[in-house]
Amino acid sequence: MIVVLKSEATEAQIQHILDKVQKLGLKPHISRGVEKTIIGLIGPEDALQVTPLEIYPGVEKVIPVLSPYRLVSREFKKENSVIRVNDRIAFGDKQVPVIAGPCSIESLEGLRRIAGQVKAAGATALRGGAFKPRTSPYDFQGLGEEGLKYMQAVGKEFGLATVTEVMDTRDVELIGSYVDMFQIGARNMQNFSLLREVGKTHKPVILKRGISATIKEWLMSAEYVLSTGNFNVILCERGIRTFETETRNTLDINAIAVAKQKSHLPVMADPSHATGRWGIVGAAARAALAAGGDGLMIEVHDNPQEAFSDGEQSLLPGNFAGLMRELRRVAEAVDRRI
Ligand code: PEP
Ligand code: MN
Repeated sequence: MIVVLKSEATEAQIQHILDKVQKLGLKPHISRGVEKTIIGLIGPEDALQVTPLEIYPGVEKVIPVLSPYRLVSREFKKENSVIRVNDRIAFGDKQVPVIAGPCSIESLEGLRRIAGQVKAAGATALRGGAFKPRTSPYDFQGLGEEGLKYMQAVGKEFGLATVTEVMDTRDVELIGSYVDMFQIGARNMQNFSLLREVGKTHKPVILKRGISATIKEWLMSAEYVLSTGNFNVILCERGIRTFETETRNTLDINAIAVAKQKSHLPVMADPSHATGRWGIVGAAARAALAAGGDGLMIEVHDNPQEAFSDGEQSLLPGNFAGLMRELRRVAEAVDRRI
């Protein structure tokens, strides 16, 4: 059982509820987030049939535990959640945000050039890694805080929302002070302390699906963020590992539809990491949008051969602009806008 408190619930009301459930023999776990305060209850729930908690002042709703992910589930909330990033972009709305930019932030000038081009093509948010999760410790690891400064400056200059990956609980505050959204990468999908740490903020979190994670595991990871109090989560399908070797990963189109059926959270897709090949990024992007994707993240670089990471899957700005034109037509067909 989960008790969701009203945002205006007072300390006295919360204490009253805690005393009451303890008297009924239930063990409460309170989680105070920036947006919501939630009390999880463990123990014999029968007592609550006699004393329904809904009638207590300060209680917004009481959710029986049916699915393993509670706050994330459609049972908790029937309507689609719309996650606002700023006054211009929102995920889960009719207008579908496209996030574009290089895999890694390489230099201020490079980021400015790419940002100008993706903005002109219609992207509304800028991506770029400053802390990179590289398979090899000898590969480029990112510019760190210097990169975050570039991201902030360039985002501001072009009016683009910004997103970058956070890999370490110790960097959450620092990264949060520079960008509009956190990205939790595929490799960290089950880094539960990191999920809790971003859960303590109210910044939107793009939660990538792990390379070998089931949809259920992915939704359980989202539950960690919501249960810590941050309801601003956007799920991101970025391809899973299969037996296929022609492509870097396999875009699981089913997962977009399934996640949207099971959860009220917006579901976006990253066709760049899902395919690993620039020549098929467009096909995957169109398919993800047609399947109901609420956003896209696409890697773009103006000199892919020299890119510090993921050049082989990065679109040239001209190709990205062409894809945006195609995406507008797909969006129209599924009653969305790009
Ligand atoms: C990225 O977005 O550059 C990235 C590393 O993504 P993923 O975690 O999906 O591999
Ligand atoms: Mn990348």
